[in-house]
Amino acid sequence: MDTTQSRLWHERAEAVILGGVNSPSRAFKAVGGGYPIVMAKGQGSHFIDVDGNDYIDYLAAYGPLINGHAHPTVIQALQEAALDGILYGTPTPSEVEFAEILRTAIPDLERIRFVNSGTEAVMTTIRVARGVTERNKLIKFEGCYHGHSDAMLVAAGSGPSSIGVPDSAGIPQSTAADVITVPFNDISALEKALLIHGNEVAAVLVEPIVGNFGMVAPESETYLQSVIDLAHRSGALVIFDEVITAFRFHYGSAAELYGVHPDLFAMGKIIGGGLPIGAYGGRREIMEKVAPLGPVYQAGTMAGNPASMKTGIACLSVLRDNSVYERMNRLGAKLEQGILESAQRAGLPVTINRIGGAFTVYFTNQKVTQYQHAKASDGKLFAAMFRGLLARGVFIAPSKYEAWFVSTAHNDADIEKTLAAVEDTFQEMKSHD
Ligand code: PMP
Repeated sequence: MDTTQSRLWHERAEAVILGGVNSPSRAFKAVGGGYPIVMAKGQGSHFIDVDGNDYIDYLAAYGPLINGHAHPTVIQALQEAALDGILYGTPTPSEVEFAEILRTAIPDLERIRFVNSGTEAVMTTIRVARGVTERNKLIKFEGCYHGHSDAMLVAAGSGPSSIGVPDSAGIPQSTAADVITVPFNDISALEKALLIHGNEVAAVLVEPIVGNFGMVAPESETYLQSVIDLAHRSGALVIFDEVITAFRFHYGSAAELYGVHPDLFAMGKIIGGGLPIGAYGGRREIMEKVAPLGPVYQAGTMAGNPASMKTGIACLSVLRDNSVYERMNRLGAKLEQGILESAQRAGLPVTINRIGGAFTVYFTNQKVTQYQHAKASDGKLFAAMFRGLLARGVFIAPSKYEAWFVSTAHNDADIEKTLAAVEDTFQEMKSHD
């Protein structure tokens, strides 16, 4: 496969854009380096790079493109939005309509605010929780990414209730000291952390289904309810980060799948239909602490912009028909089974975590329920799979921690072509063993 034009564009990019990418995850650093593939256009389940190579897309732009590229309903909404003028800086009907749609789908969103990214949504829920509880500390879970705000770039220290150390330069130690990290799927670790710090904790922040060390569901049906009960017993609020999970597995929240009710939600990705978006919301009496009604400040020039509102409404209208989720689940199951069979034939240690159309391929024999298991997945084998698939026209995220996303645009022919690419790639990996 000739990717010369990608290389040339990347060289040009490096001279003006720091590192040649506008988000570090787009660099191919985790898969052995080299230039990233530069894309030119997308249609349905495929995209085409600047050399004209065609790829089946399982990146889905890291999640938002649940309806694939250039879905006609979404494109029509975007065109209409553009023709009416892009931005007013005033209230508009579309933001009201969209908020009503979200509240109908997720009744716990008694009041909503639109922002521009998942980072902003999470960051603001934290400020709200701190404002409401008048406490500073936060509890999050090991290996979970919640955007790049200062407090959320704090990784785990060692031990179940250790105080975090920053994962990035430029984060004040005082910020890191307020973040406690515990392992996911370990209720006693949370219990211990709350025993020690409980009366200082403003919020426990969790993804109901983890999406950032692969797809990892709660091990027990009652885990999330226990997280909520323990947090509430300490007077802390519970924030669900549903930036990846909202509308991913069914038309609504992941919280609903477990019958639980967090105090606040943060959302993004799918709800924008591919345009920049974030949203947060929750219980009315909590949200009423936000300006202009309350003392917690949050604002945004682009917040609730009509284009994102209209593409969001269009995207969710496609998902309203629940059969699309059955279809993504069926295609996801077919991929899972085929990949496992190819792995077995090649003698590769593969474990797959799949929820509906989203799944992660780990190179380990161990069950993956916590970050440490995902960390143990073999990065060299992952890089070999990534390269093999790329060369055969199958694009997955260049990180062993990311998921493959099946969209409503994928079809059986895509899955069969993907499985043939997986089979060849795994056989090639075996012969290089
Ligand atoms: N929370 C989660 C769970 C995410 O996966 C992400 C992005 N991958 C974010 C927050 C941040 O969202 P954004 O990139 O839109 O700022």
